[in-house]
Amino acid sequence: MYNEFGISNKAKDLVLNAEENLKEEFKKIDELCDVNSLKVLNAFNKNNISEAHFGSTTGYGYDDIGRDAIERVFSSVLKAEDALVRSQFISGSHALCVALFAYLRPKDLMLSITGTPYDTLHEVIGIKENKSSLKSFGVRYDQIELIDNDFDYEKIKEYLRNNKVKLIEIQRSKGYSKRKSIVIEKVEKVIKEIRSVDKDVIIMIDNCYCEFVEDKTPLEVGADIIVGSLIKNLGGGIAPNGAYIAGKKELVDLAGERLTLPGEGREVGPTLGINKSILQGLFMAPSVVASALKTAVLTSKVLGDLGYDVEPLYNEKRADIVQNITFGNESDLVKYCIGIQGASPVDSFAKPSPWDMPGYDDKVVMASGSFTQGSSIELSCDGPIREPYIAYQQGSLTYSYGKIAVMKAITILTESN
Ligand SMILES: *Cc1c(COP(=O)(O)O)cnc(C)c1O
Repeated sequence: MYNEFGISNKAKDLVLNAEENLKEEFKKIDELCDVNSLKVLNAFNKNNISEAHFGSTTGYGYDDIGRDAIERVFSSVLKAEDALVRSQFISGSHALCVALFAYLRPKDLMLSITGTPYDTLHEVIGIKENKSSLKSFGVRYDQIELIDNDFDYEKIKEYLRNNKVKLIEIQRSKGYSKRKSIVIEKVEKVIKEIRSVDKDVIIMIDNCYCEFVEDKTPLEVGADIIVGSLIKNLGGGIAPNGAYIAGKKELVDLAGERLTLPGEGREVGPTLGINKSILQGLFMAPSVVASALKTAVLTSKVLGDLGYDVEPLYNEKRADIVQNITFGNESDLVKYCIGIQGASPVDSFAKPSPWDMPGYDDKVVMASGSFTQGSSIELSCDGPIREPYIAYQQGSLTYSYGKIAVMKAITILTESN
């Protein structure tokens, strides 16, 4: 059956042998899944979720009890005072954009302390010219680089002593960079340092890909506001689109005023029939994230065994669901992506090739045969066409499908070498 699916015996054996050595890692992931499942179920119970919440509104979307209940459930899962969970957010990037425009005013200063932010924010901030950027409204921006995969604590404190900063952005997941993603202990440490100098600065976390990977959220270690996408971890592969902004109530309300319009804010926003999917997605999310983590750990072990540089290592502590494989050349990167695409449930016949994706600086090769367009909690793999040709793989709704896809990708990678 494996051969019939285009998987070589060699690839199958490599993967099955690697899997034998992962029992300890998988046990930790199962325990994490239990803890997160408990959190979710508790939130559903406390908020008395019932079929009435699966209803829908149209038009303005006033009095949508399902939408309000969803926001309470997300708040309790994320340990937030409040949360805005809406399908009117196109994606995580849009939610980040809404948050930035909600909190920053002309002359305000925004500071990233994780180096250059995610590609799609370059035009939002004005790092890359755009007539509608924050910069075009007179919002100033500066950044401090990470050093050795950690915050430059002294430089950050020095900067805060000398400048009145309105908002600090911390991007936990690595995006298309070579750095490591940032575990919660480091977020906790840097927030303590920041607060020792500045009690008022808004600390905003780009939490994309990090939900349910560790047992604490950034809000539990002092962050003011966190932002993430529903076509990643918390959507559980079921939410059709959307994103969330969660944290301090006052900041969540401000984001609502900006997402819709001042004066109507969070009171409007029709749900058009998706409430049940959002709730069901959150319900599935602990288990789906666990499957994605197992797929990442397996990928790291097998590709590492094959001699490729992988980050994180299979037994390293993870902050997110992203697995890097450094291929060192365009051809292997593209081959690997072709293999992942070939093992997708949707568009398996498509052959990924590098293209100019809107919002990204380099050409990107992308394998994504997902039920939901662009969903990256479903197995997907992409990489910018630039040195050193790193693949960024994430997701898989189940571990079995992830494992099969890795076998297929390795078949294509190894047979033509
Ligand atoms: C995915 C991601 C985003 C948002 O991406 P969307 O595709 O717009 O949802 C933002 N920041 C990071 C670090 C991400 O990984």
